[in-house]
Amino acid sequence: MKILVVGCGVAGICLTHEFLQADCEVYVIDNGKNVSSAVAAGIINPLVFRRMTLSWRVSEFIPFAYGKYREIEQTIGVSFFRPLVIRRLFPSEQELEFWKKKQLLPEYSDYMEELTKEDLEFPLEQNTFGTGRVKQASYIEAKSFIEANQKHFRSRGILLEETFNHDELDAENSIYKGTEYEFIVFAEGKDSTYNPLFGYLPLQQTKGEVLTIQSETMYSNESLNRKCFLLPLGNHQFKVGSTYVWDTDNTIPTEEGLNTITENLKSLTSEPYTVLEHHAGVRPTVLDRRPLLGRHPNFPKMVIANGLGAKGYMLAPLLMNELVNHLLHGQEIPKDSHISRFGDPTHS
Ligand SMILES: Cc1cc2nc3c(=O)[nH]c(=O)nc-3n(C[C@H](O)[C@H](O)[C@H](O)COP(=O)(O)OP(=O)(O)OC[C@H]3O[C@@H](n4cnc5c(N)ncnc54)[C@H](O)[C@@H]3O)c2cc1C
Repeated sequence: MKILVVGCGVAGICLTHEFLQADCEVYVIDNGKNVSSAVAAGIINPLVFRRMTLSWRVSEFIPFAYGKYREIEQTIGVSFFRPLVIRRLFPSEQELEFWKKKQLLPEYSDYMEELTKEDLEFPLEQNTFGTGRVKQASYIEAKSFIEANQKHFRSRGILLEETFNHDELDAENSIYKGTEYEFIVFAEGKDSTYNPLFGYLPLQQTKGEVLTIQSETMYSNESLNRKCFLLPLGNHQFKVGSTYVWDTDNTIPTEEGLNTITENLKSLTSEPYTVLEHHAGVRPTVLDRRPLLGRHPNFPKMVIANGLGAKGYMLAPLLMNELVNHLLHGQEIPKDSHISRFGDPTHS
């Protein structure tokens, strides 16, 4: 069965591994303009701090992602998956009280360490209301994940380094540049907005900026979080971010982004640092914060895999597995992930 995947970010990479495992003949096209998966911090955090709730379907996504990333590491012979402790510095008495209540609930206790005296009195200058540790967090070294997977696909002769030209697609017959495919799966990230087949879906472009900094004196045993994240990378380097600017397609790092991040960082540390790198990317987001998966209503061999939003590294492994099981074995895609929730483009 011949498959074409368009886009080699985290969605396209997970899809390609799934199709390879199912013994399909798969090709993946990428134009090398990755602006999301390669820029991301790659943090997998089971909690949503803003509301102190669990992330959507966390008990399914986390174990599946861990297993899948370990499997991909074995397949490509490169290590990129790192366990992580995230330490939240509570911004208020109220959030401390939330944590105390929630950690007692069975569904939360898997993801929140019970607060200890050491957590409450944690010796960080910025600790005012205590701190709490998140369990089962991790991060993917995003840039090496993307580069190593693309290198692996290149060595197998299945990475086509070019732009997919929609004018050369015969969607009715699933033929692209003269070759017929069983499925063409579009995992184009924010560029799906310009896809003539799937442009009707309400995908938003949410810009984010992130810094890589160096500091000899910053706390580096755990990732700290309040207003922003501070992720230790080793060798006294850290990632810090990020920002959210809605409805913008441009990926130019800005002075404003830099100022926001450096201002937010003050809520975690006042240690001196130098900025080594400054990048911007665009997240493919959907207002209801759910992905966009499924076949086109009129061209069932044309498929979309998108809408991973701000949590692509946590969601992609299981969602892409569910999509491939749907395409190859007819397994239902959960309703809240399916594009049918946005209706049929011909009846709009
Ligand atoms: C600053 C920032 C920080 C983030 N931090 C985190 C984090 O800590 N944890 C987390 O889980 N997520 C994070 N994210 C979100 C995460 O990056 C996204 O959820 C994820 O990368 C989306 O992956 P994707 O494969 O759908 O899209 P992308 O990574 O954008 O991949 C799409 C690919 O398709 C290619 N493409 C598009 N159109 C075409 C075409 N016509 N022809 C050929 N190729 C094409 C592009 O070049 C690209 O390589 C962050 C994002 C940003 C911007």
